[in-house]
Amino acid sequence: MSTQQLSAKEKIQELWGTRPLIISGPCSAETEEQVLETAQQLAATGKVNMLRAGIWKPRTKPGMFEGIGTKGLPWLQKAKELTGLPTAVEVATAKQVQDALTFDVDVLWIGARTTVNPFSVQEVADALRGVDVPVLVKNPINPDLELWSGGVERIARAGIKKLGLIHRGFSSYGNTQFRNAPMWHLAIEMKLRYPELPIINDPSHICGKRDTLLEVAQKAIDLDYDGLMIESHIDPDNAWSDAKQQVTPARLKEMLETIIWRK
Ligand code: PEP
Ligand code: MN
Repeated sequence: MSTQQLSAKEKIQELWGTRPLIISGPCSAETEEQVLETAQQLAATGKVNMLRAGIWKPRTKPGMFEGIGTKGLPWLQKAKELTGLPTAVEVATAKQVQDALTFDVDVLWIGARTTVNPFSVQEVADALRGVDVPVLVKNPINPDLELWSGGVERIARAGIKKLGLIHRGFSSYGNTQFRNAPMWHLAIEMKLRYPELPIINDPSHICGKRDTLLEVAQKAIDLDYDGLMIESHIDPDNAWSDAKQQVTPARLKEMLETIIWRK
């Protein structure tokens, strides 16, 4: 059976272990049109295996766009119907897990601001008990491998079998070259601790701007990462969050064609 004919759930079965796993889509779902158009353009590249979109956005300061909320989940369902791309969403509370599952989100991820908080990770883990859904755990915003491991172990103890890591870099004070310093050695240490888990690099949140994405993505591939999560938007400069780091699906395609992949 060709991949095109598989259901999203069957594709996930195939994808866990597929390399490279390329996840892309907007930082935030903004409108139905934006989600559908982005998904269609990403699918047309023929190089993306999964559609991401933030539905609930953990913003550093109040008064910013905090995500469209549950209203955006049917847009992702429709995007999946149109393109066949499985979907991935960040969850931080039990209610978000329930809502995401109600609307058939295929993969959940724990964001960097949630991994730092064992109460929150445990709440998500408890909501996942008895559910068969893949979960990716981003590194915490601070360079603390025990917190990252703790997050992974809480989700594993909830019975989640398809688990993975996302390396999105670590925050530091002041203006630095990266929005979040990659500290590659920490991610490599996690790779060694959990050799059976796929590790995905997120150049978007490491770089914080478009011009260095390719370099970081290439380095991750050279270091034998299993995939990339790169934010994309049909009109990046006017994105409602993370405008500076998003790229158009066309630019993403170019980047993916430029990267030298490991054999
Ligand atoms: C995101 O993926 O849009 C996001 C909020 O990422 P992080 O948790 O890495 O900051
Ligand atoms: Mn983002």
